[in-house]
Amino acid sequence: MLSFDPNGIRLRGGHFINGRLMDTDIAEIDVQRPSDHSSYGAIPEAGPSGVDRAVTAAKRAFHQSGWATRPPRERARVMRRWAELIDSNVGELSRLEAVGSTRPISEAATWDIHFAAEGIRFFAEHADKLGGDVVATRSDNLGLIISEPYGVVAAIAPWNFPLVMASWKCGPALAAGNAVVLKPSELTPFSILRAAELAVEAGMPPGVFNVISGSGHITGGALVRHPDISKVTFTGSTQTGIAIMQAAAESGLKPVTLELGGKSPQIVFADVRSIDRVAETIARAITANAGQVCVAGTRLIVERSIEQHLLELVIKKFDELRPGATWSQETTLPPIVSARQAARIHRLVQETVAEGAIVLTGGGPVAEMSRGSFYRPTILTSVHTDMTACREEIFGPVLTVQAFDDEAEALALAEHPSYGLAAGVYTSDLNRALRSVRTLEAGTVWINRYGRSADFMLPTGGFNSSGIGKDLGRQAVEANLRLKTTLIDFAEA
Ligand code: NAD
Repeated sequence: MLSFDPNGIRLRGGHFINGRLMDTDIAEIDVQRPSDHSSYGAIPEAGPSGVDRAVTAAKRAFHQSGWATRPPRERARVMRRWAELIDSNVGELSRLEAVGSTRPISEAATWDIHFAAEGIRFFAEHADKLGGDVVATRSDNLGLIISEPYGVVAAIAPWNFPLVMASWKCGPALAAGNAVVLKPSELTPFSILRAAELAVEAGMPPGVFNVISGSGHITGGALVRHPDISKVTFTGSTQTGIAIMQAAAESGLKPVTLELGGKSPQIVFADVRSIDRVAETIARAITANAGQVCVAGTRLIVERSIEQHLLELVIKKFDELRPGATWSQETTLPPIVSARQAARIHRLVQETVAEGAIVLTGGGPVAEMSRGSFYRPTILTSVHTDMTACREEIFGPVLTVQAFDDEAEALALAEHPSYGLAAGVYTSDLNRALRSVRTLEAGTVWINRYGRSADFMLPTGGFNSSGIGKDLGRQAVEANLRLKTTLIDFAEA
């Protein structure tokens, strides 16, 4: 696909409730393109009454549409058809993502949209494989353990991979038979609203999948607290996750799945087979989506004997990146999502420098990009574990480097006081790799590779302040079911 001209695109979002797009709220949020900070659309902001309209529609659909009660194969068929429609609308959906998010068109068109569709297909396949269990506690009874959907699930998604993240939140909940009200990020609302129209076109009963637009504080807050929400599934920052868990607890002890932030270490031992390949992976892990990835490999922990060589190779990879607007086919380093976030990245880098770190490369905005906020891939050396850039999730292309002399030191440096999302270990020594896996406090540990594969079978989610529960895998679908126990006593009366 060729690059496209985003000028002249003006979008008006709304809420997708009961199978159709509506726009009833007066309050409005301006939506800007990260690539040049120009406004290209607006969405209404749902307050408590707008949220109530969506949740009521979802509750009605849950009870009356048959989504939960008809043969699960029917759910699977509709979801597969939905995935097909997402695939076949890749042009429009990828343009919507590229104009309004940090996803370069070349990646959105070849990866994001199809990956979202593939996820929906994977979850659909579980719809008719969700068994219960039968247990006899005596010879004259039977216990039935029945899996049932919760009812209406609130899904709240971030902006960094708009459609992919939304599909990971909604796919498992829908496959399990729930109705869903999704609140996408107010920064990236449009591709998801279009995907919701495709769900209905695929045959999803109106009201089963709803999308409400608005800010986190107002719309998201009202959604989590709504009394008819039975479960909350959220992906976003740890700070917001804490607020959501608190609100969910206070408004009826709702269960939560939380996929939160990270500060993931990558440990490189000197015995790696190919230092070139490792350099490429390290560079990609911190610059993909300009570092705006939850599992970004932000902390390089490298054996001292190869530190200098590895860093030279990583910098070469950084130099090959081409910053540019998301709608250009050439772009390999996309913008930071907002001027505010770019300023935060720079502040955290400067704070770390004030604490004694040295900027090996980068350290500021891309000078030649006058519009938008582009940040140069940055390497900070002479850092210590307690410095700002080692502790805080920066959500930008900023890599800290620490050298080690032995395995125990490497694993100690990898520890983080609170985050535990992911980690990478690069070595050709299998025993060392497995020792590292068992020691590292992380929900995912990659060996000799880094980043998500397209393998939906593998559950993903963090430890500690990085989250609760798993996205992906059969476990993600099971997390959207609750167990009901029945005991049948058939002894003669
Ligand atoms: P964010 O926490 O600011 O917002 C996420 C969503 O929550 C948005 O839709 C927002 O409107 C909403 N929200 C904000 N405050 C809310 C509140 N009080 N109540 C209800 N909803 C509220 O995160 P973000 O900036 O959109 O995304 C970046 C963050 O997401 C990073 O921390 C990143 O690590 C994390 N993330 C994690 C994963 C994962 O799988 N663990 C994946 C992607 C992103």
